[in-house]
Amino acid sequence: MELTASTISLPARQPDWARRVQSDPVLLGDIARAVGGPFHVLHPGRFTDNLVAFTDTLVTGGVSGQVYFGKKANRSACWVPECARAGAGVDVASVPELVDALAGGVRGADLMVTGAAKSAELVWLAARQQCVVAVDALDELDRVIAIGRSAAPVRVLLRLLPENDQGSRFGLTADEVAEALRRCVAAGSAVRVEGFSFHLGGYEVRPRAGMAATALGYCHRARELGLPAASVSIGGGFAAAYLDEPDWTRFTEEYRSSWFHRGKTFTHFYPYHQSPTGADMLREVLTSPLPGGGTVATEFARTGTRLLLEPGRALLDQAGFTVFPVQGFKKRGDYGIVTVAGLSMSISEQWKGSEFLPDPVLWPADGPGAPVSACVGGSSCLEYDMLSWRKIPFSRPPRHGDLLAYPNTAGYQMDKNETRFHELPLPARVVLDASGPGWRIEGEVQRR
Ligand SMILES: *Cc1c(COP(=O)(O)O)cnc(C)c1O
Repeated sequence: MELTASTISLPARQPDWARRVQSDPVLLGDIARAVGGPFHVLHPGRFTDNLVAFTDTLVTGGVSGQVYFGKKANRSACWVPECARAGAGVDVASVPELVDALAGGVRGADLMVTGAAKSAELVWLAARQQCVVAVDALDELDRVIAIGRSAAPVRVLLRLLPENDQGSRFGLTADEVAEALRRCVAAGSAVRVEGFSFHLGGYEVRPRAGMAATALGYCHRARELGLPAASVSIGGGFAAAYLDEPDWTRFTEEYRSSWFHRGKTFTHFYPYHQSPTGADMLREVLTSPLPGGGTVATEFARTGTRLLLEPGRALLDQAGFTVFPVQGFKKRGDYGIVTVAGLSMSISEQWKGSEFLPDPVLWPADGPGAPVSACVGGSSCLEYDMLSWRKIPFSRPPRHGDLLAYPNTAGYQMDKNETRFHELPLPARVVLDASGPGWRIEGEVQRR
């Protein structure tokens, strides 16, 4: 029987470095043999290019500020030294993340501590290391002030409740901001209020520009109270595009559950095509007009306010991909099931009840057999351990010894939910320097 179940192709956008690595006749096969299982390929050079694009956009926009890498988006140790070398900061949310950032060479003064409900140990470390702490609640502020009195003055930003999501559990309401400012004034030198922060869900420009204006207003009020308040962090949430626009539009318009194994239905997908993305999106925020006249950029410049940002996913865009060895292939009606070494926990989207949609790339590209449609299962004993429920069009049947490369997984996909289920080791992490005409394997980053 022909394995030609109806489906559509969703070819991933891929950068030149990844295409070159994937088209090498031996490299990925050699790595797979050496590590003996699934692995992540990481290319810090791409991360740095993304980072420099953000900092250049601040400079071109005439705004002074700082980029803080949202560290939770990837657990590898290879990104932090890139931040240190480029003069960027890191946004951390736990003691181990803070320690990793220091170990990677970023100075305490270049760290931003966000995250809900910070432990006393985290605040104390932040005070000792002169990190800036984004305070999320009034009781947290009281604990910060107490530590500021006993240890060292704490640099703080007051985190604002999103205007476009009043039900969010994060941030301070307008009343709470007023109360927080009173407590900070009363606390004297125990805290240094450097400004305000927010982090919005979604990927839209306009709400970020609007909240930046609100935060500038709060800075003005805080300065009138004698507080320094000269920084605003506009958070993360800078978009990335995994697919080209026509492919994504076609998918959303023609989407059918018959394209998926067992007719599985999904209620939501990540927006795999977006525009603007990354630093282009920052540029649009900066050039957004404000109701009182001027743009975000001109208002920051006019008021001498620094613009901070905390991109995670956008810095990791196209900086890594994930490779799974194919263990076998079987038929199910008019499509196939590929089983790979590795777990769907390495593709985090599945664990949000959704699916990572860009097509994985079969390696090597050539081989015997006719085109097939096939979904991809992991190596656990669970029916729902599927890397791709979607029937993916392959140019030939995948077979034992081949590899499947899932593209652009560095941002949140590869290691957000990885576990040692079945006592399987975590995938290896291989750092490639692919910035020249060839590439060098820089080494393996410690498995975490
Ligand atoms: C997760 C997070 C970020 C990074 O978000 P991205 O969508 O990866 O850019 C930045 N700031 C805060 C407070 C976060 O929680």
